[in-house]
Amino acid sequence: MGCELLDGRPVARALRERALGELTRFRNVYGQNPGLAIVLIGEDPSAHAYRAAICKVAESVGIYTDVLALAADSSQERVNALIDQLNARPDIHGFVVLQPLPPHLSRVEIADRIDPLKDIDGITTFNAGRLFHDDRDVLAPSTPAGGMALLKHYDVPLAGQHAVVVGRSPVVGKPMAALLLAANATVTICHSRTRNLGAFTRQADIVVAAIGRAGAITGDMLKPGATVLDFGVNFVGGQMVGDVDADSVLPVAGRLTPVPGGTGRVTTIVLVRNVIKAGTLQYSQQQQASRRQPAT
Ligand code: NAP
Repeated sequence: MGCELLDGRPVARALRERALGELTRFRNVYGQNPGLAIVLIGEDPSAHAYRAAICKVAESVGIYTDVLALAADSSQERVNALIDQLNARPDIHGFVVLQPLPPHLSRVEIADRIDPLKDIDGITTFNAGRLFHDDRDVLAPSTPAGGMALLKHYDVPLAGQHAVVVGRSPVVGKPMAALLLAANATVTICHSRTRNLGAFTRQADIVVAAIGRAGAITGDMLKPGATVLDFGVNFVGGQMVGDVDADSVLPVAGRLTPVPGGTGRVTTIVLVRNVIKAGTLQYSQQQQASRRQPAT
């Protein structure tokens, strides 16, 4: 039968084409270019690499970007003040505070300081809640939304399928489970305290790995023909690898996203498209508010 590799590049190219069309409409209707800001705190190399990838994709479609770098020892108050400035800037339609954060900073406090209408990675409580209410207009976290775009591009059936999501972080595992559930999959979530992980993954039509451990999912943990979505980004001997042990998984799985070249490519363009979506939501809310103003 052979395992089909689900290449992220054609998916990213198709989404980029759609972004270009959306941008033209945005400029025509609102007379402005959408703007994206990236907040970098400290010197984490993976955050710097992600910043470079986001800027490259955003600038390639014509979205204005502004990178704001803070020292790793910046106080919570300093970070909060920067978020308040970005919430108020009319030239910035969406922004992200890149992970990982220095340990003295609160992820929850940062998330909920962000204006939900500018929350292009769907991390505020408001957007996370709306995601679980199956709101199609929500600004969904870009990594799982990219995973869903990839599954859709390759016509992977979801309705009635059993999906096992390994990982329960608020940015990858949990929102991925919510999106799969909204697509009518039957969803099981596993995590580091799950006993006998393989007993769950072997029942799955779709296995989603969002763990952060190289080689955590092996071929003997899969049902033959299963679809495997690998979000893992790990470095072993200077090489980027996923959470899936490709050597043992390839002879068993029906479909697999490669690392690199799979989910990561799609995440970045989904994030960039969310800037256009956020800008559109902001303008339509302003229009609704001005219609509610009594005539003078
Ligand atoms: P995270 O916050 O560290 O969460 C990891 C999750 O995996 C946790 O829920 C943890 O369980 C679970 N876990 C850890 N060890 C496990 C084990 N042995 N068995 C079962 N579950 C285990 O990481 P994240 O932010 O969700 O990221 C996950 C991976 O995706 C990382 O490699 C990250 O670099 C990558 N990532 C990729 C993209 C992309 O675009 N492809 C974007 C973002 C992140 P507990 O909750 O019990 O601790």
